[in-house]
This record gives sequence, C-alpha cells and structure tokens, in this order.
Amino acid sequence: MPVLGAVGERFAAAPGLAGLRIAACLHLTAETAVFARVLRAGGARVALCAANPLSTQDEVVAALLAEGEVEVSAARGEPRAAYAAHLARLASSAPQVMIDDGAELIVCAHEQGATAGLIGAVENTSPGLVRLRAMAADGALRCAILAVNEALTERIFNDRYGTGQSTLDGVLRATNILLAGRTVVVLGYGFAGRGVARRAQGAGAVVVVCEVDPLRALEARMDGFAVMPALAAAALGDVFITVSGAPSVLRGEHFELMRDRAVLANAGHFDVEIDLPALAAAAVDPPREVLPLVDEYVLADGRRLHLLAKGRVVNLAAAAGHPAEVMDTSFALQALAVEHLARAGGSLEAGVHPLAVELDREVARLKLASLGIEIDELDERQQRYVRSFR
Ligand code: SAH
Repeated sequence: MPVLGAVGERFAAAPGLAGLRIAACLHLTAETAVFARVLRAGGARVALCAANPLSTQDEVVAALLAEGEVEVSAARGEPRAAYAAHLARLASSAPQVMIDDGAELIVCAHEQGATAGLIGAVENTSPGLVRLRAMAADGALRCAILAVNEALTERIFNDRYGTGQSTLDGVLRATNILLAGRTVVVLGYGFAGRGVARRAQGAGAVVVVCEVDPLRALEARMDGFAVMPALAAAALGDVFITVSGAPSVLRGEHFELMRDRAVLANAGHFDVEIDLPALAAAAVDPPREVLPLVDEYVLADGRRLHLLAKGRVVNLAAAAGHPAEVMDTSFALQALAVEHLARAGGSLEAGVHPLAVELDREVARLKLASLGIEIDELDERQQRYVRSFR
C-alpha cells in the first residue's frame, strides 16, 4: 500500500494527530490494520469495531491484539447483539473523530447524545451519506462530516473497480459458477453498480440493469445493458446483485417469479437490500446451508433460491473485500481527511462537507507515482489561455 505508506511516513515524521482519540467502525481486514497503524504513527489513539459482523478477519484481530497498539472489539460471525454492543461502547467512549462505513457509529453516537466532544467524522459509503444528509435536513446532525465517498478517487477505485471486482470475486468464491452465458441482474447503477455490470459483462454474462433514476437508467442503456423494472428482470436472472443502497429492492413479488437455483447476492448496504423476512416467509422450510455462505431456500413449488452470505455484502463476507491496491488510495484519503479534521479542530460547522479536491488530487498524484506513471503539465501559455476567456 505505497500511497498510504507515503502518508504514514509523513505522519511519523511530524505526528499531527498527537493524542487524537479516533473511533473507527470499519471492516476488520488486513488493509484496515495497516490504516490503523498509520493513524497510530500520526500519534492518534485508535479504537476499532466492525462495520459488519461477517467481514471480520479473525487473524487480523488477533494480530492487532497481540501488537497492543490499537483497541479492537470484533469477531467474525459475532451475534447481532454483540456487534451492536461494541458499536454502542465505541460511540460512547468520547472519541474526537469518528471514521464510519455506513454511518452506524455516527448515528449511534447521536442516539446516545454522545457528540459533545466530536471534532468531526469521516463517512466512506454513499448510503451512509444519504442518511447523514437526511439527519442534517432534520436539524439532527451535531457534527461535521467529511464526505470521503464522494471524492473522485473513491468513486473510481473503491466503487467502480473495487466493488466491481470484489463482488464478482465473492459470488464466484461462494458458488464457483460460470458467469459466461448467464444472465446477471444488477440492481442499482451508481458507481458500484456500473463496476459490477461492466465486470460481469467482461466475464461473458448477459447483463440486465434495474434503476429508479432516469439519468442512470439511460446511461446504463447507452453503456450497452438491457434496462427494465426488477419485476421484469426477476424471471430472467440467473444471478441477482443488489448495489442500490435501498431496502427490499428484491422482495416477495420478485422471489415468486425467479428461476430455480437463482443466486441472490448483495454488495450494497448492510443486509437490507434483499428482503430476508420475505424470503424466509416464501420458503417452506428454514434454509439449508448447501455450501459455505450459500443458503438454499426451497419455495412451495420446489424452486430453490440460493442466498449468499446471509444477504450481507458478498465482497467482504464471501471474499476478502477490495484488494490492497484499492484500499491503499481509500485509506490514504481517509487519513488525509482525519488530518484535515484535526487541523480544523472543531471549527467546521455541523453538516455534510465535500472533501477538498486538493486531497483527492494528492492521492491521485501519489498513486500515479507509485505506478511509475508520469503526466504532462500545461505550460504557461496554455495556463493563461484556459484561465482567461480572451
Ligand atoms: N458497512 C456497510 C456498508 C459498507 S461496504 C455493510 O457492511 O453493509 C463498503 C465499504 O467497505 C467501503 O467503504 C469500502 O471501502 C470498504 N471495504 C471494501 N473492501 C475493504 C477491505 N479490504 N478492507 C476494509 N474495508 C473495505
């Protein structure tokens, strides 16, 4: 992770986060551990909990605990209550900066009335930002949020290429199906959905996109995908992948129409995009685990639906999440965002703020350098031309 490494070296040389108390709700992967070390190098005190009960890599938690430099509370497959308890404890531990992957920690701190000492928070997902903007509109948001997810390096690396590849990785590791020739239905055509659709197409699948936004639906059509409502796609798909940020985009009326052995996977927001109670209600028996992380639901007429990773983000639960190359830029950006908050020292107003484009550029520059890629610069005459309308 050379980009994060470069930021870490700078932090170690001049620890600008000295004494800063950071609480982070992230997927506990090897990449996250490297990020936690970089924050420590900057002088911060770091406490981590899981952003998802199924994504924790236990060997990473064990290594962090053995090292004893950061506080960690998580275990793979922990029951919902234990997961929520860790989150609640971290939210009430008087952190100054929060780092969040779905807004759960930030919302929890607000519910507990524990926002007084907060300088600000960093949010890394688009559904998380939707939720935080809704809180801001209600006048309920009590701290500054930096919208890391909306930086261009995030959208390119994390959403498009990261989710695009790791989602298919999760589906393939869980099922080992051949994608070529299958119909893959992608529900949601945001940055992540575009990545998944393009990768599935590249693997030889026939790809159908379902959208609610007319602009995105039109773009999907122009990108060469079939576009239709989910009810029409339900009868066609072999594999369904939700990447919408919305709840119940696949629900009872869709399950009723699906083919025998259709695969259902979520790469979006928590375990809400596939309506799990409706799936359980449509099945005649409780699900049977036919392969690790593949639950088979048998419907009244004998059709079998295969749910992956209990409806939780398949790329992290059934695979290892985004590759280190992707998390390199993502965590570098998050580290710069934390530094920005520390420097601002609480002077940012409560609300959702875009990340300064300079930080985004800095990460892109470091990434290009790590790839050994040089680029051109405008000369003085060109700069004069583009700056003036004459
Ligand atoms: N917490 C929610 C949504 C988060 S999934 C849930 O669990 O459903 C998307 C987030 O996972 C992104 O912010 C992405 O950066 C992060 N992610 C993906 N791969 C990762 C990895 N290898 N290590 C740490 N985080 C990862």
